[in-house]
Amino acid sequence: MTMSNTTQSAIEYTEDGLRIEPEAFVKQLPNLSYQQGVLTIEAVSADDLVKHYGTPLYVYSKQTILDAYHAYSDSFAAIEHQVCYAVKANSNLAVLKVLAQAGAGFDLVSAGELARVLAVGADPSKVVFSGVGKTAAELKAALQAGIGCFNVESLSELDTLNTVAAKLGVQAPISIRVNPDVDAKTHPYISTGLKDNKFGISHDVAVAAYQHAQQLEHLNIVGIDCHIGSQLTEIDPFVAALDKVIELIEALKHVGIELEHVDLGGGLGVLYIDEEVAKVSEFAAALLPKLQQLGLKVLFEPGRSIVANAGILLTKAEVLKPTKHKNFAIVDAAMNDLIRPALYQAQMAVIPTHSQSYANAHTSADDKPNEKSWDIVGAVCETGDFLAKQRLLSLAVGDVLAITGAGAYGFVMSSNYNSRPRPAEVMVAADKHQVVRQREKIEQLYELESVFEG
Ligand SMILES: *Cc1c(COP(=O)(O)O)cnc(C)c1O
Repeated sequence: MTMSNTTQSAIEYTEDGLRIEPEAFVKQLPNLSYQQGVLTIEAVSADDLVKHYGTPLYVYSKQTILDAYHAYSDSFAAIEHQVCYAVKANSNLAVLKVLAQAGAGFDLVSAGELARVLAVGADPSKVVFSGVGKTAAELKAALQAGIGCFNVESLSELDTLNTVAAKLGVQAPISIRVNPDVDAKTHPYISTGLKDNKFGISHDVAVAAYQHAQQLEHLNIVGIDCHIGSQLTEIDPFVAALDKVIELIEALKHVGIELEHVDLGGGLGVLYIDEEVAKVSEFAAALLPKLQQLGLKVLFEPGRSIVANAGILLTKAEVLKPTKHKNFAIVDAAMNDLIRPALYQAQMAVIPTHSQSYANAHTSADDKPNEKSWDIVGAVCETGDFLAKQRLLSLAVGDVLAITGAGAYGFVMSSNYNSRPRPAEVMVAADKHQVVRQREKIEQLYELESVFEG
């Protein structure tokens, strides 16, 4: 069979499942390669990482994070802009520090995230605070830190913020998150810009909301924002949202409200398996003419597209359980470590850390275990505990697999379910590697607990 492009030759859907050609597949991912048959992130081999730190293990490439950030800052260099990395995608201090040093601002959704960005010395004026349920205490902490903008999501939040700001004797810079009611064509759980979502203020009452804000003495209107969803592969929904927002900016001008910035949120998708994802440069090309005409400063809040493909999760096959109907590969990572497959039915690539073509060339055919269709599952006592289903792989107990695209919404969504200590996180830069979060110890799982004395 002749294949016309890399994606097709890397991925093959068969009746028995999905076959990924590891060497062709990683060519599409930044800073991942096979060197002498061993998966290598930047210049560090998976073998070395496993030897030093064990499994399961999250590994992040510093260079990939920087390159992804610069894809935005370079693509929008023609206009005044600020990239505010969405901390919730991966909030490890090492990740935040790399981005802060590169000049990124941050998009927060909690006081915990505020503390993290302050801990790495982020410039508070480049920080925006999103989220539907900010508490008065969180608003206060962010006002005291002097953040750049509150992305307000309800009338009630406007009032609370005004009260908190009045008590502190300060002005709160605000933008209102409007809900442009465009279909982001993504998974319903991560689509946020439709009328029936809990997020933002609907388009038709937005002007009234701004007029309400204008009455409140301790609010200072600076912008408007929207965020329509996550893992968007197409550009059209962003353009449609921008058009709706521009309409509102015009309507606000008519009632005498002038803005300084427009914040287009995050949401650009990434390649997990074979998605055809718009590049940041294409995204910029579609938006720039409209933004240039608008003449406002532009903010972006990308999360996934900065860190997803900077990360892999290394996990070891502990138990192989072929049965008549299904073959289970039980690995040492589970849904508590990486919940995207279980929560969103997300498809993530699982590749061997030792590529088969190299193995084939160096061992006799009889030595290599036969390829089978495996469900890659964890050890958690839930049927929903799977990392991937029906993957064609040659597996032996002890083999280490890599799940790619694990840098975003990976570790941050992990839990201790089944009293499983969370994995360590490691950052790699060129041939250097360092733990940036230690593997949790079993004692730590219950250090905040006590038995009832009553
Ligand atoms: C989650 C979120 C983002 C980041 O979304 P990605 O899809 O990771 O780019 C940005 N802004 C807001 C308000 C969010 O909730």
